[in-house]
Amino acid sequence: MSSATDHDTAVKDSGAEMIPVFNPSTEEQIAEVVDSDAAMVDAAVARARETFESGVWRTLPAAHRAQVLFRAADIIRERTDELAGLESRDNGLNFKAARHIIDVSREMLVYYAGWVGKIHGESSNVVSDGLLGDYENFHNFTQLEPVGVVGLIIPWNGPFFVAMLKVAPALAAGCSCVLKPAEETPLTALALEGVFREAGVPDGVLNVITGYGETAGAALTAHPDVDKISFTGSTEVGRLIVKAAAGNLKRLTLELGGKSPLIMFDDANLKRAIPRVGMGLLAGSGQNCSCTSRIYVQRNIHDEVVDKLAAFAKRLPMGGSDEPDSLLGPLISEKQRRRVEGIVDEGVAGGAQVITGGQKMDRRGYFYEATIVINTTPDMRLIREEIFGPVGCVVPFDDEDEVIAAANDTEYGLASAVWTENLGRAHRIANQLRAGQVWVNSALAADPAMPICGHKQSGWGGERGRKGIEEYFNTKAVYISH
Ligand code: ADP
Repeated sequence: MSSATDHDTAVKDSGAEMIPVFNPSTEEQIAEVVDSDAAMVDAAVARARETFESGVWRTLPAAHRAQVLFRAADIIRERTDELAGLESRDNGLNFKAARHIIDVSREMLVYYAGWVGKIHGESSNVVSDGLLGDYENFHNFTQLEPVGVVGLIIPWNGPFFVAMLKVAPALAAGCSCVLKPAEETPLTALALEGVFREAGVPDGVLNVITGYGETAGAALTAHPDVDKISFTGSTEVGRLIVKAAAGNLKRLTLELGGKSPLIMFDDANLKRAIPRVGMGLLAGSGQNCSCTSRIYVQRNIHDEVVDKLAAFAKRLPMGGSDEPDSLLGPLISEKQRRRVEGIVDEGVAGGAQVITGGQKMDRRGYFYEATIVINTTPDMRLIREEIFGPVGCVVPFDDEDEVIAAANDTEYGLASAVWTENLGRAHRIANQLRAGQVWVNSALAADPAMPICGHKQSGWGGERGRKGIEEYFNTKAVYISH
């Protein structure tokens, strides 16, 4: 066990409080990081501000900036195993899955490195009514300017990936950043700071601060010299951030919770569907805001789907960071496991039936069994709340109108899915689902070029794709009279 960085060791020696970091699959403490206070947040924001105003990054020629980001992607490729090991120990997921996360994160960086210098404004030649009753000729144009100092706050699920989802477009746009990882999983964010520095991002452009949400996160969110916050996390904290950002009317991008529905019709290809629906529910042990955990199944295939899903869930190899073939890892903490247990137990007390799972596992680590539940009612927390655990509810339906109403009966709108071989029906359902993503005959699909924009209380703005980088620009209109 060690301090995460030399900097942390120095700060620790100076008497700062430290936060212990645990491997959720072994419950062992593996590191400790600095519990940053408001003064440390101030210092990080000041470093970011200085670099933004000096233009040391934002005014570099586009090709140079892109080159640095591509170099960072190369460094990540060279260090994939090292970063995957760190992510795996920090987050509890197995090494193979962690490697995949590092790969897709690198692809995200490559995607945004490709945008540098390719975002332009628009221009027009117009004749306008002049102030003196005459006409004036104008050449008008808009330009996109980096928004400034951005605070990036990320959760413990997929920490390296979500960090990249924000850092890559922010740096590509020319912003200076203060990144705050979750207190549970700070290690790969700290490593990322080193990767970008080695690639040539000037000191002070990307600053990582570790600390608790209520202190370091809140100080960053309320900071008067931060121009924008991009946050991924719970809807509850999202609301706090909206309030804290009001002081200087920061721009906000919020990627919040979800309780995503999946609708399966009786013409679905079950052989293809079951493993994908199963992983759409259980990937990351359900600690994924887009996982489809409300599974609506046409009544005549309901029992068959329940049996097959339960069999799939039972067979899924479970294991921790050092068990390479596991597909189901631990939950992030004992607190989270107790929360999952509580929601399932409350449902059972209200009449829900557990078909498989429903128990914590008798082994080291915060493991909870893959769980399939039936006989829920629409008011149960099992159906209404984001569980962030490997728990899916299967609910029968009879017709399209009924299932659309049930699927949309949620405060969230992050993701959704439909399984059918009927093309017309697939389009019809996709049109009616009130969510930022619809997967047809697939689950948890993602592509760097496809935006994710939470509808309803799942967020503001978007990430990935062109939309994701546009969030880091301000638009300026310039009028040239001639
Ligand atoms: P989750 O439910 O996924 O753990 P949270 O919303 O609790 O997500 O936390 C996500 C991130 O937000 C973490 O980095 C956490 O430290 C931070 N955070 C928590 N509370 C606040 C707050 N009041 N202000 C700013 N950031 C916060």
